[in-house]
Amino acid sequence: SEGSAEPATTPHLTGTDQDLERTLRPRSLTEFVGQARAVDNLSVTLAAAKARGEAPDHVLLAGPPGLGKTSLARILAAELGTTLHATTGPALDRAKDLVGILTQLRRGDVLFIDEIHRVPPAVEEYLYTAMEDFSVDFTLDTGPNARILPLTLERFTLVGATTREGLLTAPLRGRFGIVERLEPYPPADLVAIVTRAAGILEVGIEPDAAHLIAERSRGTPRVVNRFLRRARDVAQVGGSATIDVAVAEDCLGRLGVDGHGLEHLDRAILTALSRATEGTLGLKTLAAAVGEAEDTIEEVYEPHLLRLGFLEKTPRGRTITDAGRAALGGPA
Ligand code: ADP
Repeated sequence: SEGSAEPATTPHLTGTDQDLERTLRPRSLTEFVGQARAVDNLSVTLAAAKARGEAPDHVLLAGPPGLGKTSLARILAAELGTTLHATTGPALDRAKDLVGILTQLRRGDVLFIDEIHRVPPAVEEYLYTAMEDFSVDFTLDTGPNARILPLTLERFTLVGATTREGLLTAPLRGRFGIVERLEPYPPADLVAIVTRAAGILEVGIEPDAAHLIAERSRGTPRVVNRFLRRARDVAQVGGSATIDVAVAEDCLGRLGVDGHGLEHLDRAILTALSRATEGTLGLKTLAAAVGEAEDTIEEVYEPHLLRLGFLEKTPRGRTITDAGRAALGGPA
């Protein structure tokens, strides 16, 4: 995703993030904060693969945007000492594109496919034999001239990332030997992440300020790092080299992030639900009411509001809870 119109709390990658993310990305499993279970499983996989001198099993990383899936894919390639080839599901428009990438892979390379649930079905079929037998039957030409070209591939490791594990087809899902789900980070992990990032960006941050920013960042490293960058700007403009609580509060206020870590769109969703005459709204109506894509509401906003207990899903639709009404500042 792109655009400066994105709210600061969006966990999607925005244009201005890219340089920052390159600088702040953890480079090894030891630098990767939190997600202990996933990190532990992956380090066992890595150690075993290295001991055998073989490419590890294919890995599926699932979880909301901004939690470290891309970082983990890069770390796997780095720790294996191999090359990472990165693409995305929607970019693999034609089977030709995928076959082109597959045939370039050298022994042990990592192929990273972000948003793998969005690989078109006709292209996905090629992944099956590629993952299982390290071969593809590529069809040249069409109609009476059609010829099948069997291609042998080098053993590689596919790392797929998805924000919507439920949308993966069973045959694709079943071809991953390792599936790791990333969860939103607890505040203590986000404090560690933002403190590390502040060190890299050479800006001071007081522990109270780090806690405040961490608490409001929706459990998401990408969001906490974005708050840090904005807070650094606020500190600099104010002539301070350190982010203290006052600077952090000022920054969050400017970004429209309230005491619950809610931003404009969260409040718009809650407001729309609080006005629903039947008490519930379907996803389509809700999306139209707040002017946001259904996908984004389902992947990003709803999970957060559900976790906070401000929204509930019922068989008839979404509904606001008493706590949600209270958070809006209205009568409970
Ligand atoms: P995803 O692929 O899940 O959207 P990324 O791997 O791109 O997420 O992570 C976004 C940014 O968040 C990274 O550039 C990095 O700065 C930071 N980040 C994510 N996970 C961690 C972590 N566990 N430790 C430290 N920083 C992290």
